[in-house]
Amino acid sequence: MATVMPKLDHAAPEALSAETVAPLRDKLRGALCTPGEPGYEEARTLWNAMIDRHPGAVVRAAGAADVIAAVRFARERGLSLAVRGGGHNIAGNAACEGGLRIDLSKMKSVRVDPVRRTARVEPGVTIGELDREAQAFGLATPLGINSTTGVAGLTLGGGFGWLSRKLGLTVDNLLSADVVTADGQLVHASEEENRDLFWAVRGGGGNFGVVTSFEYRLHPVGPVVVSGLVIHPFANARELLSSYRQLVAGAPDELTCWVVLRKAPPLPFLPPEVHGTEVLVFAACYAGEVEEGLKAVAPLRALGKPLADVIGPTPFVAWQAAFDPLLTPGARNYWKSQNLLELGDAAIEVMLDHVSRLPTPECEVFIGNLGGAVNRVPVDATPYPHRDVHFVINVHTRWSDPALDGACIAWARALFDALAPHATGGVYVNFMPGDEAQRVSQGAYGANYERLASLKARYDPENLFRLNQNIRPAG
Ligand SMILES: Cc1cc2nc3c(=O)[nH]c(=O)nc-3n(C[C@H](O)[C@H](O)[C@H](O)COP(=O)(O)OP(=O)(O)OC[C@H]3O[C@@H](n4cnc5c(N)ncnc54)[C@H](O)[C@@H]3O)c2cc1C
Repeated sequence: MATVMPKLDHAAPEALSAETVAPLRDKLRGALCTPGEPGYEEARTLWNAMIDRHPGAVVRAAGAADVIAAVRFARERGLSLAVRGGGHNIAGNAACEGGLRIDLSKMKSVRVDPVRRTARVEPGVTIGELDREAQAFGLATPLGINSTTGVAGLTLGGGFGWLSRKLGLTVDNLLSADVVTADGQLVHASEEENRDLFWAVRGGGGNFGVVTSFEYRLHPVGPVVVSGLVIHPFANARELLSSYRQLVAGAPDELTCWVVLRKAPPLPFLPPEVHGTEVLVFAACYAGEVEEGLKAVAPLRALGKPLADVIGPTPFVAWQAAFDPLLTPGARNYWKSQNLLELGDAAIEVMLDHVSRLPTPECEVFIGNLGGAVNRVPVDATPYPHRDVHFVINVHTRWSDPALDGACIAWARALFDALAPHATGGVYVNFMPGDEAQRVSQGAYGANYERLASLKARYDPENLFRLNQNIRPAG
C-alpha cells in the first residue's frame, strides 16, 4: 500500500485542474465533472442545505471499476476523498471542499432472489427503491423511515425503522458486502470471507472502504400492514407519554410505535384550527398479519381523545414513504441525539418544556422505539453497541432562513444538554451532526471502538477514508 498521507480535510480546498483529472476521466465508464461542467451542481448537492461544499471533481461512478480507479487516484495524489451514497447524512461528510468526491448515486441496480430471499443492492439505491423491488415478492429488510434515504450510509451505520423490533437492524440482516479498500482492491466480505472486514462495515461507517454492493436477507412483509398516525393535542402529552411507555414495554416485537412532538402540518384529516399548533403524534406499524395488527394497535388507539386516528391496513411501501413530505431535501437541518434506557418523567418534562418553544414550525423531537430483536444481539456482534437502548431521541431542527441558524442550533443544543442527565451518553452514529467528533469513540462505538481502531490500522492505516465519523487507526 502506498504511504501517501492525505494532507487536507474537507475544510481546505484543493483545486483540481482539467489536466490533473484527465487521466482519471479517461479510465471511467461513468462521468467525471469539475466545477462548471454539466452535472456538477446536481452531483455536489446534499439533502442538508447547511452543507455547501465544492469538490474539486466528482466521479459519478457507474460500477466498481470506476470506484477502484477513483480510490487509487485520490490515494496516489493525497487528495481529500468524500463518498456519497444517498446524500442524506446530516453531518454532510459526503461532500468535500476541493478534493475528490465519489458519487455512487447512479449505481442503482437491485437484484432480488425470491427463492433464497436475498437482495443484491448497489450503493446508489434508496430505501424506497429497495422496498419497491423487494415488495414485488412480498419481501423486505429492515430500513429507515424516510424512503429517499440512501441504503448505503444507513446500512454502514446500523439502520433501524419499522421492522427492526421484529427483524433487527439493517446490519443484522447484511449477508455480505463488496468493498473497495484503501489500497484500491475489491474485497468480498462475509461470515465466510474477510470476516473482520465484514464485522467492521456492519456499523463502522465509511471508515473501511467504499462498498460497491450490499447483500441483504429478506423476510416476508405485507404487502399490506397495519400502520398510521394517531394525533393528540399537546396539552395531553404528559399523561399520554406516561401511558405510551407502559404500552410499548408490553408490546409484541411486531409492533413499533414512535412519537413525534411538533407543530401540526396542514394535514387534510386535521381540523384547520389545529394546523400550526403543537401536537403529539403516535406513528405505529405492525409488521405482521393485518388481523393481529388491528388487535395490537387497539390499546394505542384507546388512549385519550385524539384529534385524528388514521391507523389501518396500508401498503407497506406507502407507509415507508409516509414521512417524506416533511423531510424533503433543500432545508437547513441540525440534529442532536440521545439514547435512553427508559422514558422517565424527568426526560419527558425536558422534552415537553422545549417543544413548547420550537424555534420554527418544521422542528420536531422524535422518540424512536427499539428493543425486541435489536436488543437480543450481543454488543460485540457488530460495531453498533447500543443493544440495551429502548428509546432514541432525535432533536431534529429544521428551517429555511440562514438568519435562524444560531437560534435553531442553540435550541437543539439546549434540549440535548438538558436531556443528558437522563441519557446513556451513547449515540447512533448516523444521527450525529458534523461537530461531534469527540463523541465517535465512546458515544458512538463504546466497547467496540478499540477493535474498530485496530481494524482501521489494518485496512486504512493512512486514514484515506477520514471524511466520515472518523475512527482513528490504532497505534
Ligand atoms: C430525513 C432522514 C431520515 C432518517 N431516518 C432514519 C431512520 O429511520 N433510521 C436510520 O437508521 N437512519 C435514518 N436516517 C439517518 C441515515 O441512516 C443516515 O443519514 C445515512 O448516513 C444516510 O445514508 P446516505 O447513503 O443517504 O448518506 P450519505 O450522506 O450519502 O452517506 C453518509 C456517509 O456514509 C458513507 N458512505 C455512504 N455510502 C458509502 C459507500 N457505499 N461506501 C462507503 N461509505 C459510504 C460516507 O462516509 C458518507 O459520508 C435518516 C436521515 C435523514 C436525513
